[in-house]
Amino acid sequence: MEFLKGFKPDLTGACELSKAGPCAFVIFGASGDLASRKLFPSIYKLIKAGSLGNNFFLVGVGRTQMDDDAFRALVERSIRENMDVPEELLRGLVSRCYYVHGKYEDDSVYKLLARRLGELSGKYSTRGNCVFSLALPPALYSIVAKMLAKNGLVKKNRGGEGESFSRIMFEKPFGTDLESARKLNAELLEIMDEEHIFRVDHYLGKNTVQNILVFRFANSIFEPIWNSRYIDHVQITVAEEGGVGHRAGYFEQAGMIRDMLQNHMFQLLTLVAMEQPKSLDAFDVNNGKLEVLKAVIRPSLKNISGSIIRGQYSDGISQGYRKESGVSEKSCTETFFASKFFVKNKRWKGVPFYLRSGKRMGAKFSRITVVFKGVEKCIFCVNGIDHTPNTLTFSIFPGQGLSIKFTAKVPGAKMCLAPLDMDFSYDRAFGSVDVDDYSTVILDCIIGDRTIFWRKDCIEQAWDILTPALLSWEKCPLEEKNSMLHFYPAGSMGPKEAEELIQKDGRQWI
Ligand code: NDP
Repeated sequence: MEFLKGFKPDLTGACELSKAGPCAFVIFGASGDLASRKLFPSIYKLIKAGSLGNNFFLVGVGRTQMDDDAFRALVERSIRENMDVPEELLRGLVSRCYYVHGKYEDDSVYKLLARRLGELSGKYSTRGNCVFSLALPPALYSIVAKMLAKNGLVKKNRGGEGESFSRIMFEKPFGTDLESARKLNAELLEIMDEEHIFRVDHYLGKNTVQNILVFRFANSIFEPIWNSRYIDHVQITVAEEGGVGHRAGYFEQAGMIRDMLQNHMFQLLTLVAMEQPKSLDAFDVNNGKLEVLKAVIRPSLKNISGSIIRGQYSDGISQGYRKESGVSEKSCTETFFASKFFVKNKRWKGVPFYLRSGKRMGAKFSRITVVFKGVEKCIFCVNGIDHTPNTLTFSIFPGQGLSIKFTAKVPGAKMCLAPLDMDFSYDRAFGSVDVDDYSTVILDCIIGDRTIFWRKDCIEQAWDILTPALLSWEKCPLEEKNSMLHFYPAGSMGPKEAEELIQKDGRQWI
């Protein structure tokens, strides 16, 4: 984790970003959106931060016809589009970029790649260490991994003490349901070891997300109240203003539940709900998450609308989803969900976790809000009406930070109460930090710290929670699917059924 291995706190409290050891970084799908918008800028940020030194080079692989120069121009353009950069540093990175062109199923590409990696490993003294990032449509994950293995670029039992390592970073979605995730895991484990498989969830590279564990387990004042005696419920919202953009082809197949709930949002839930792990070792942290995922009560298929509401945006401040380019005019893909889950254990008995996420919503924000119960027999209750409950909010976007809502007396002779916010902002407290979530993901993979990556059993548990519901929807005839989909105007905060889901329990979305 960034704050464990990536950032090493010294005795003065200052944090220094770790230096990665010698390593090549190979991006499959280097002409794509993820590479341009995230991977190249994040690698540049690591170089700027001094984490990637001279023993590093970058290779792009793909079907797009490019030579090294064209690839260098692409890397340069992508970085410049994202930030202002000093010329010298950018030249330093660009001069270390290389490209291998060809089809992903084609043996000759891997032979060429192996030859170039061999030469470049000598030139940059990377000792044969290599991270392969699969920035590709998921259908290609297994094919590429097998071709890498066939050509000796990844191996089982490799990477022991003193040996070179090969790791593969897999993007989300990892599988489309429990069966496909199991199949992919089984295929990968035939050719490589679990410790070299890095299933990415870039949300876990964000400071606020990592801060949840620090906040809970490094501060003695919160742990005693982190349970059903004091917590009324938890809300997690990831609201997007954008639509599907150029990813309609992918999104039509995936939908919001597969795209957000199964991965990012379940990760957030596990961090809020887990017991204190035995240690901050990746294995123990993942064990903690696994226990939460196992304890999540599976949605009842008989009363699915009591736990998951699916929505789709219709005409509003922009055109409806079914009119988007690349989307079927009869599409029943959900662009929104609101859901309610319970974690069956002593700590969380009776505490609902409300999770929602949507596209084309009225605002763009991501946050977790822990809502506390009111004070028993509070002397400030007027006519039985309690004042605003205490809340604790972890903000992930916009701005990373934390805020606590509490009640205070308004100045003056009369006893009037008002809710107030006490805010902490990462930027204000620490200044803006130049490394982003993908920088953390890349650095941790090179370092070999698996804490922020999905482990095999965790990802399968997350699919296990949702797969019966997903499959049962998919089996429905079109008319029935349509009737179970709730429409909301683009630019609103979701369908009224999402409001009703929480209002039925006497609560409301914050
Ligand atoms: P793209 O659609 O941009 O595809 C990446 C590259 O893959 C393309 O440039 C293309 O390269 C190759 N490719 C695309 N389609 C095919 C195909 N049908 N057959 C063979 N090759 C193909 O994807 P993204 O970059 O957006 O995403 C890559 C991965 O990362 C996906 O798994 C996605 O789910 C995941 N992801 C993406 C995020 C994003 O913000 N974009 C965020 C989080 C995860 P070429 O033609 O040169 O071979």
